[in-house]
Amino acid sequence: MVRSITFLEAGFTEQFEKIVNPVTGKWRKIRFPSTVALIEHPRHGYLLFDAGYSGRFKEVTRRFPEKLYAWVTPVTVSPETSAVGRLRGLGLAETDISHVILSHFHADHIGGASDFSRARYVASRREYDHLVSLGTVSQVRHGFLKALLPESFESRTRWSDDFPVELKSLGEGWMGNDLLGDGSVFLVPLPGHTLGQMGLYVPSVGGVDYLLVADAAWLTPSFREEIPPMRITDLIFHDPPAYRDTLTRIHRLDCETRLSGRLRILTCHCEEAMERERTHVV
Ligand SMILES: [Zn+2]
Repeated sequence: MVRSITFLEAGFTEQFEKIVNPVTGKWRKIRFPSTVALIEHPRHGYLLFDAGYSGRFKEVTRRFPEKLYAWVTPVTVSPETSAVGRLRGLGLAETDISHVILSHFHADHIGGASDFSRARYVASRREYDHLVSLGTVSQVRHGFLKALLPESFESRTRWSDDFPVELKSLGEGWMGNDLLGDGSVFLVPLPGHTLGQMGLYVPSVGGVDYLLVADAAWLTPSFREEIPPMRITDLIFHDPPAYRDTLTRIHRLDCETRLSGRLRILTCHCEEAMERERTHVV
């Protein structure tokens, strides 16, 4: 079983709270951290779930059409606040990372991916194949900046669809792929936001189970109160009805498990939840 999970902020952007939470949010800008989960496994060393932003994002978005992404989504990140910088602060090197699991291919999740020279990547083949079949402008419209990935990406990737499917502990309607073959980390399909978006289920970490849902919900109230974002965001979702179905499933799971406090559901971009987790010692 996994020894610990540590949450690191790898750069951030800002969003209008009202757009992501039209019910109780206000017309003010809130910080949208790109959170990376550092997972310590007794046999496989350190794994990362998502890679956040890094300096490479700035290099890649100097030119067109990638520049359009940076105009729409201004990013703040420095060498110290990228995933690798945060790891260094913990006394770890990029070579200590054995796996980088990419929940999906949006730039705020793959921005730091190329900083890991020894890691194996884990990603959705369906989503990747779809994105690389598009032209560059269309890729940018889908939030995918291919130059953020290293040249060796395909040869170093294990595709999530190839892992054996088995996950019963989250209950009816849930499934997952057993990433390491020992029941410690499961890739959980959470479609809608993108074609192949997946979350990560990590049971029994210091007596707590974690479900990291990435962008299947943006803020904690999104799944806790079942508040989808404004409809305008449908423009960037791969499948809006599937997104809302996924949000409903997460909401129900949260309702079923909230009393026991056994399951922690965390989104990637909820600053308040991540602050809470960062101070939690497993
Ligand atoms: Zn996303």
